Amino acid sequence: MTTQLPESFRRRVLDDLGAEEGRALCAALDGESPVSVRLNSAKRDGGSLPGVVAERAVPWCAEGLYLRERPSFTLDTDFHAGMYYVQEASSQFVGRLLDGVALDGARILDLCAAPGGKTTLYASLVGDDGLVVANEIDRRRASVLADNVRKWGTGNVAVTTCEPRAVCDFEAWFDVVAVDAPCSGEGMFRKDDEARREWSEGNVRMCAARQDAILREAWRALKPGGRLVYSTCTFNRDEDEGTLERMLTWAGGEVVEAPEVAVDAAWGIVCGAVGPWRTFRFYPHRVCGEGFFAAVACKSPEAEGRMRVPKARREVIMPAARKSIGELSRWVRNPERMHFVEAAGTCYAWPASQQTALKALSGSLPVIYSGVALGQLFKGSLKPDPALALYAGLYRRAIAVAELDGERALAYLRRQEIAPEGLTEGLDLICARGRALGFAKRIGRRVNNMYPNSLRIIKQ
Ligand code: SAM
Repeated sequence: MTTQLPESFRRRVLDDLGAEEGRALCAALDGESPVSVRLNSAKRDGGSLPGVVAERAVPWCAEGLYLRERPSFTLDTDFHAGMYYVQEASSQFVGRLLDGVALDGARILDLCAAPGGKTTLYASLVGDDGLVVANEIDRRRASVLADNVRKWGTGNVAVTTCEPRAVCDFEAWFDVVAVDAPCSGEGMFRKDDEARREWSEGNVRMCAARQDAILREAWRALKPGGRLVYSTCTFNRDEDEGTLERMLTWAGGEVVEAPEVAVDAAWGIVCGAVGPWRTFRFYPHRVCGEGFFAAVACKSPEAEGRMRVPKARREVIMPAARKSIGELSRWVRNPERMHFVEAAGTCYAWPASQQTALKALSGSLPVIYSGVALGQLFKGSLKPDPALALYAGLYRRAIAVAELDGERALAYLRRQEIAPEGLTEGLDLICARGRALGFAKRIGRRVNNMYPNSLRIIKQ
């Protein structure tokens, strides 16, 4: 049974929006959520996606689609191949706030990143030479984030798990800092019953104080001239405009307007401003999406702040041995644009354009994933990591490809035994509908299913 909307929330909404609009919002929060996905442009192959039947485009995101109904994503092999990310439509708007930023080769910090909806969106925007540093304070959530980053397969993300303070010690280092702040979650009241149960005035105050602290850190990490994106999934003024007002009291003169953001009035987004901040409110009774708040501003190019990189405390990453470069290069489409490294016995490929940045990060922060994990070398041959199968830049001719039909592919994703028919002796790239899912090794009549246990489908 759905929990009632908290009474003081209902009263506040009627006060803030007026009786008629407040009631419309509350009614929308008791209604059905639209279902939407965002396509992975790095994996676009011209084929169809029968598992996600699109109704229409999300107007503010080129890759966003509303679906006709909610399918079983778990049983869609294209979902496991990282062909799309299931992302609520309103939050897809953050990409627009970067319009006009020179993104090619840019560094973006996504400071509150798990499970990775916005990280994967930014990863698609910065391209092969850019870098997204996706930080998540909670270790368990950070490992889900890393799984989603592997599945997205762009190879241009580093996942860290630490307090915002530690990653923001990379001062004046990022072209963009995005704070998708932990909040009281009022915008999720329709989708998530737990958000209704956990809501309280006390929690709102606690969230607002935490947001203030996170924004202080975020500001340190931003380059002069860089862009700051702030977002929440709550309607609460104290956590939205209020947080920005409090930020202006200490950052005041250094905050300047970002270029205008084109918004069509027909989308229903409520545009506003808090000093130089441009703000955007998404109400589910006006917009086809969940409740969301987003804001954007720039750090003045004249702001104080010299770029500072913390001193490296450890040397965990080493360049790959010269003799192994040939074998590693064989597996990627653009080896000349990659830098090959090794950490704890696993080889990784980084975008060469970001190797200095990634080395600096690895030297002082807990980086749990970076670039693309290629695998481990045994007697000069690569035993591929499952992440390599999901990497958009995998060179398919490096390996035999075994195409499985739907049922067999699902058996593979459940880590069940699969029959050897159609597999070549030795290593195979397992595909469904031509889309890579993982690896398997055939030895005679036996097939070793190499799909990772942590990703295995449990649902029957
Ligand atoms: N950006 C994510 C996405 O699009 O998938 C959603 C992020 S969620 C709204 C906020 C995240 O902030 C949570 O993963 C939560 O664990 C993290 N968080 C909680 N407390 C935090 C803190 N004190 N500092 C930074 N992040 C925190």
